[in-house]
Amino acid sequence: MMNKLFFKTTFSVLLVLLLVLPLSSKAENRHDQYLIMVDPAHGGQDKGVKLSGKLYEKDVTLAIAGLIKDDLGRSKNVKVRLTRSVDRDISIPDRVKMIKKSGADMFISLHVNAGFGKNSSGFEVYFPGFKLSSTGKSASQEILKDMIKTEYINDSVRFAKIILRNMGKIFPRKDRGLRSAPVPVLDGVDIPAVVLETGFGTNIKDKKQLTDRTTQKSIAGAVAKSIREYFDRSPQIRQND
Ligand SMILES: [Zn+2]
Repeated sequence: MMNKLFFKTTFSVLLVLLLVLPLSSKAENRHDQYLIMVDPAHGGQDKGVKLSGKLYEKDVTLAIAGLIKDDLGRSKNVKVRLTRSVDRDISIPDRVKMIKKSGADMFISLHVNAGFGKNSSGFEVYFPGFKLSSTGKSASQEILKDMIKTEYINDSVRFAKIILRNMGKIFPRKDRGLRSAPVPVLDGVDIPAVVLETGFGTNIKDKKQLTDRTTQKSIAGAVAKSIREYFDRSPQIRQND
């Protein structure tokens, strides 16, 4: 009776191992290549900030997103997918669904800022803000959720800082800094995620730069470089080395 049970247990353990092992090695392989979801914000009827007679935020974000994809196309360990590659409407909930369905490792949303006056200029990066449960009555599940949130927020902040540094090389003294805010498109997204406000469509100098193809390429280059830097220093990559 005892022996039979022992055999049964051993067999079950082996069976579980056989089932689990291929899955876990598959999970490790996943990180040979990272999927980056790049979001050219707005689109279609939702034009965003107006830059000139015919040119809107939706056009600038789409142009830069395409250039980021081109730039990263040369990297073996990074693959880029866009939330839209043409001028079309996509709702915020649909964008969130796309991120979740894609299994992406990182998300970046591109925007053009607008100021109340013409003097505001420069770039800034947002990461998703949230409040830790402070009731003291948190169930362990709530604490666990907060821990996961904290981890990806730390990752988002790390990524945001790399972007700010690389953007600062193109636009010296135009760094408006790192900001935390509840961002709808980042709501419920549990991967490193940031919003990049590339510049102000309401500022003459920023506008000129944002509509210039060469500057768009530089911005795309700075973002692509930041993504490469982020993953080159990522712990998962070090494990594989
Ligand atoms: Zn926008």
